Amino acid sequence: MTNKYHLEIMKLYDKIKENQKNALELRKSEVKKRVPEIDDIENHIGKLCIKVSLAAFQDAPNREQHLKELKENITNLRVKKTELLVSNGYPLDYLDIHYNCNKCNDTGFIGLQKCSCYKQKLNSFYYRNSDLFIVSDDHNFANFNMDFYSDKRNGREKYSPKENMKSIVNQCFRYIANFESTSENLLFYGNPGTGKTFLSHCIAKELIDNGYFIVYKTSEELIKNLKDIRFNNNSVLEDHLINCDLLIIDDLGTEVSSEFAISELFNLLNTKLLRNKKMLISSNFSLDELLSIYSERITSRLFGNFSLFKFYGDDIRLQKNLNSKASSK
Ligand SMILES: [Zn+2]
Repeated sequence: MTNKYHLEIMKLYDKIKENQKNALELRKSEVKKRVPEIDDIENHIGKLCIKVSLAAFQDAPNREQHLKELKENITNLRVKKTELLVSNGYPLDYLDIHYNCNKCNDTGFIGLQKCSCYKQKLNSFYYRNSDLFIVSDDHNFANFNMDFYSDKRNGREKYSPKENMKSIVNQCFRYIANFESTSENLLFYGNPGTGKTFLSHCIAKELIDNGYFIVYKTSEELIKNLKDIRFNNNSVLEDHLINCDLLIIDDLGTEVSSEFAISELFNLLNTKLLRNKKMLISSNFSLDELLSIYSERITSRLFGNFSLFKFYGDDIRLQKNLNSKASSK
């Protein structure tokens, strides 16, 4: 996660806590004016609490009994305070701190896990920058349909398309589960319509829901972005491309490849690899075709530093189209 977002989010929590503290002070002084007796009780409780902490350190012979009495007193006073509050038309928790999020008490964390309110804040940060990637809700693993993949083995491949796909999906699950600690990059390649883009969306969605910052670009957009960075010094964009938790590049090989595009692409891949920043690249080309499109420098980075996943099978988009035509007849 880019640190910048984390710090800004933590500042938001500080602000929330400060606001809630001020709001509580206002409620207290209002109650003090209207029902002074409640304020007296609160002061009394405060004094008894100090006595409890002192007694805990003293080694008096009747300490346990003394502590017990003090605590009973405090409880009775609290009950009395609540009764007074309610009889004066205030809610029970009027003099308690009110949290925006009761799950994490506005700390953003439940233990070491990020709270859902933290993830919401992170998402709203994404909305503020142009690189927000919104994944359609349908693009999730639950909607990944294995029925589109045949279980008949094609002569050239060792596994049927269905077996192959099951294995790829399982490895993607593992990738997501180990995302924090892994530095693995993924390359999805193979014929069009075999689920590469859909699967990369599923991965993105899962990671975004877990609070990660994902940047998604088609290779054509990426080359435009790299021009913008080179010629307009767009440093925010550069930071997003380099420091995001996962950069997804879709459709590698379809961009207009020029000397510029190839050398900037190489630089980006190299920078990210050196900094252990993860990437997921998909391409409709075979490895041989990629070799003929790109220089040795790029392909050696791709083939050497990425886990390669070959997608094959019938064109799903075609099948879906045929199915919908058949059902509308
Ligand atoms: Zn929370």
